[in-house]
Amino acid sequence: TFYRLLDEKIDLVFRQLMHRFKIQAAKKVRNYPFLMGNGIWLDSEKLGWEDRVGEVLKHGTLTVGFIGLAETLKALIGAHHGESEDAQRLGLEIVAHMRKRCDDESEATGLNFSLIATPAESLSGRFVAIDRRKYGEIPGITDRDYYTNSFHVPVYYPIRAFRKIQLEAPYHAYTNAGHITYVELDGDTCKNLKAFEDIIRYMHDQGVGYGSINHPLDRDPVCGYVGVINDQCPRCGRRDGEPISEEKLRELRRRFPGMPQASCHCHHEQH
Ligand SMILES: [Zn+2]
Repeated sequence: TFYRLLDEKIDLVFRQLMHRFKIQAAKKVRNYPFLMGNGIWLDSEKLGWEDRVGEVLKHGTLTVGFIGLAETLKALIGAHHGESEDAQRLGLEIVAHMRKRCDDESEATGLNFSLIATPAESLSGRFVAIDRRKYGEIPGITDRDYYTNSFHVPVYYPIRAFRKIQLEAPYHAYTNAGHITYVELDGDTCKNLKAFEDIIRYMHDQGVGYGSINHPLDRDPVCGYVGVINDQCPRCGRRDGEPISEEKLRELRRRFPGMPQASCHCHHEQH
């Protein structure tokens, strides 16, 4: 039943993509004077001002995206892929199926259908709200403000960085339109560069196509120090929200010529 419903949705998305493509393809080169006129698109230099752009747009991709693999697995077998090996197997099977549908559609149409691990931040909130109204609050599925992006292990789930990378990496090979795996660190990475490098190398070795490390970073807008600022700025000694004397400012400018000229007294850069 799940695969039947999934296939129906994929068919719907294919139709929507083709519908939009046909409308776009019927436009003329003169409707895109910059893109087509400058030869940015492959083959656009072969077209005249009054030609339709379909022959050029076909080189682009028609992309199907997905969110909430974790919640899907939770709904199907009661655990997400961070929690169970069975869920990971099923997750890979589902995403492989979606990719195959895209490949088959490419074969059938001669167009580039592809699968993206969507980072749909606003959609993740919108869909879960709709589903909650429809199906009620279901633990681990509709009881949070966001569906988990793409194939990610839920952000609220405690897991070691290396395990998260290991679990998410195999999905990168299936999602040929794009993907990302994040690791979030809670300390000052500058104080443990070895750990930072180990994570990067592990991402590479596991086959992560696009990896990212999030880490805390503060900037003192007064002295320009960049790093983790806990209670007191390690460069100028200023505490959060504290003003700084003109004298001290002059001294700092002599020592750090690159520091910002204008100053305000907020802690984190928010402009
Ligand atoms: Zn400072």
